[in-house]
Amino acid sequence: MAKIMCPCCGKRNTVPIVYGYPGVDLFEAQERGELRLGGCCVREHMAKRFCNDCLEEFDCNRIAFALTSELTFSIGGYDGECHSVEIRLKNDRWIAQYRYSSNGFGCAETDEPEAEVRKILEVEEWERFCLQLQKCYVDDWKKEYNDNDILDGTSWFLEIKTVVNDICSVSGMNAYPPYFTKFLKCLSELVGKKIE
Ligand SMILES: [Zn+2]
Repeated sequence: MAKIMCPCCGKRNTVPIVYGYPGVDLFEAQERGELRLGGCCVREHMAKRFCNDCLEEFDCNRIAFALTSELTFSIGGYDGECHSVEIRLKNDRWIAQYRYSSNGFGCAETDEPEAEVRKILEVEEWERFCLQLQKCYVDDWKKEYNDNDILDGTSWFLEIKTVVNDICSVSGMNAYPPYFTKFLKCLSELVGKKIE
């Protein structure tokens, strides 16, 4: 079975982190690169996986996505195409708003979009999406992904705020985290519009 991809470096040399007091067999397994020993200390949001290549821990589930009350995403290129999605909690219902514009970064609230879709999300639909966000390891993404060597590229922005005011904010310019394609696919399915 293919191993879980590391959200930091994109490689698949990742192993589970095992907590607790380890015996000899577990030390040997760590030597063989089959797992990572996490120690006996119990903390909040302990990482579940470790990358043998970049040595980062991930899958901490720091953000309770089920409690997410706001999501803002936009992606746009210098050719003018821009997609944006806003998901807001209003009167106990999650409402997704998708906008598209072909003339520059015209996705701001004040601009007139060329296409607009407003959708009230079913609770199950929203919960499924939150689970998908977790599986994209969004809270393990870096703050910024930039490749400044390319001119005229694509820039994007993602912000997730939870009701307890945790904020996860990521932006990029011509560079993307390993799970970005999967994230776009999930978001596209949620709003019913292809975002690329
Ligand atoms: Zn890695």
